[in-house]
Amino acid sequence: MRKALRAMRGDITTLQVDAIVNAANSSLLGGCGVDGAIHRAAGPELLHECRLLSGCKTGDAKLTKGYRLPARFVIHTVGPVWRGGSNGEPELLASCYRKSMEIAGQCGVRTLAFPSISTGIYGYPIELAAPIAVVSVRSALAAGASVQEVAFCCFSDADLAVYEAALAAAGPA
Ligand code: ADP
Repeated sequence: MRKALRAMRGDITTLQVDAIVNAANSSLLGGCGVDGAIHRAAGPELLHECRLLSGCKTGDAKLTKGYRLPARFVIHTVGPVWRGGSNGEPELLASCYRKSMEIAGQCGVRTLAFPSISTGIYGYPIELAAPIAVVSVRSALAAGASVQEVAFCCFSDADLAVYEAALAAAGPA
């Protein structure tokens, strides 16, 4: 089967995929934005499992079960806070996508959805973040893990337009 990379608009907590990625903070103990939505939808068992993980470094990712979510797994990754762009932000953001794809591959995930990591409260300009997301995920897909389908799940039409443009600019896979 041909591997697919696409953008869509939606609420990531409702997606019927093998795994969703959470844009978490380094405590992994929940927060606002997509993190809060995922914890609310997954139920308190998610927080219990997260407590055992001892946090997560920026640019790294950790796996939990999905509990009450339709998704079987949640991959928690910690994006960089935008501090002007010359503090390693692009490398750290790329690392979030790469490590999440790595973990997904290790647990046999075939379908995966990402939120727009760091572009909410963490302030990363989405026009700069989306091309990094596209390039990082596309090279991980090509590298041949189990993952077959990846969706960038955008929360607004404006965000979706930015991801569509980044996908178009990257050209065919
Ligand atoms: P960060 O702290 O990494 O910036 P945020 O959660 O603040 O993370 O925002 C990341 C992105 O997730 C933003 O584009 C935000 O609009 C989006 N978002 C918030 N809730 C959801 C949701 N339920 N599904 C998908 N995306 C969401």
